[in-house]
Amino acid sequence: MPNIINSPSSNFNSRNGRKIIAIVDHCTDGLIPGCLQWLQNPISQASAHYVIGRDGNIYKLVNESDASWGAGVIDQCTWPLYDGTNPNKYVINLEHEGYLTQGGDGILTEIQYQSTLWLHRLLIAAYAIPIDNLHIIKHSEINANHNCPGPNFPWVRLFNDLNATVTIIANNTKIYGQIINGNTFAPISNVCKAKGWSCTWNGTKRTVCVNGASDANVPATTGTGVSIVVGNQVIVGEIIGNSAWCSIATVCKALGVVYTWDQVNKIMKF
Ligand SMILES: [Zn+2]
Repeated sequence: MPNIINSPSSNFNSRNGRKIIAIVDHCTDGLIPGCLQWLQNPISQASAHYVIGRDGNIYKLVNESDASWGAGVIDQCTWPLYDGTNPNKYVINLEHEGYLTQGGDGILTEIQYQSTLWLHRLLIAAYAIPIDNLHIIKHSEINANHNCPGPNFPWVRLFNDLNATVTIIANNTKIYGQIINGNTFAPISNVCKAKGWSCTWNGTKRTVCVNGASDANVPATTGTGVSIVVGNQVIVGEIIGNSAWCSIATVCKALGVVYTWDQVNKIMKF
């Protein structure tokens, strides 16, 4: 999972009780650290919740519970969900490091793409944001004066990856999952519940012990990572929307559980 670097900005205010309904994607048109300094400078009156660097690092400027200042200027707004009030109150602003002017093409690096994909997944899960172009939008739909995030932002790839869902049927219980790096990921706690396996969270080590496995010899994870302990195996997982997700096929293999995989309909059954 990507590295998240705290880089607080004082350029934020309250959401005034508004619920988060959308993600607005931007391009910084500048490089880190200059653009970070700008978004942290009170004079700019500008910010974002996160800036995703070309090196894959994610810089966190504003808490999601507050309104960042990335989409408050309205110019020929075409976003159907704009309700006449300041969009900053109900969106999450994501900046991507890169140039649109000065000969730049705004094309994300591969590691930058993987980081923003991860962050989009996390936010979608946390705030139940629908995966469509009403709820994941370009800044230019709010402010047409800015060609932001530019013509090369990878919308098709992003939506394809976000929509790569799988259904896991465990003891006739349907569990929603996603294909992440070619693996069937789902919240391990949901799978354990469906199968009647024990599932214990150790907040100190950030481990999940499945079906009686022990984490006594498992090192604590660093940062916000999570390890899923199954039998003698330690599976690297990800925290998405307050749940620990991991490859369910890997869990099944570790437990010797046989499963079927329907490649056409993306259904895994066991
Ligand atoms: Zn923008």
